[in-house]
Amino acid sequence: MKLIIASNNAHKLTEMKAILAPFFDDVQSMREAGIEHETVEDGQTFMENALKKARELAALSGCCAIADDSGLCVDALGGAPGIYSARFSGVHGDDKANNRLLLQKLEGVSDRGAHYTCAIALVWPDGKTVTAEDYLYGEIAHDEKGGNGFGYDPLFLLPERGLRTAELSAEEKNRISHRGKALRQLVEKLEAME
Ligand code: IMP
Repeated sequence: MKLIIASNNAHKLTEMKAILAPFFDDVQSMREAGIEHETVEDGQTFMENALKKARELAALSGCCAIADDSGLCVDALGGAPGIYSARFSGVHGDDKANNRLLLQKLEGVSDRGAHYTCAIALVWPDGKTVTAEDYLYGEIAHDEKGGNGFGYDPLFLLPERGLRTAELSAEEKNRISHRGKALRQLVEKLEAME
């Protein structure tokens, strides 16, 4: 069975391909599979969005499909930006503006607790589904630091290490991140099915 990944993000594709290749005959991105499709992400949770993306792609392609949805949840903001993380400031994917707005909203706030969430859904054309969700807990710092990673990483502080996730190497981040852990959880479930 062929697996298609519902993403054109180069970093995610490399990581997912390497981890999932042993379980499928072939693993391709949407672009490689010649599929152009944009899912309307109107779910109320990360998992609803991941499931919707994977289900639509599996139905369209007749292949197995995998999708993920992730974001940052800040305690003092009632879990915001959450599923709206990519477009917190109004412009989709404007990391600088998103970070600026987050700092503004937390001005004078002492509760800096936050976590990243990643939900992953793997769906077969017959509807069979395997899911995994995992988290990375930390705090929102008062300023930006570090040049690695993306999104909110320059603000996301790992208090026990005194480091931002933007200061970790890709390997280190993958070892502890919400996405890395959710992906490994998914692989454990696939192994248990074999
Ligand atoms: P996506 O679902 O992986 O595209 O992530 C949605 C948004 O959540 C991104 O645009 C980022 O703003 C934020 N986000 C998710 N994961 C991370 C991370 O590992 N570091 C920083 N920001 C993240």
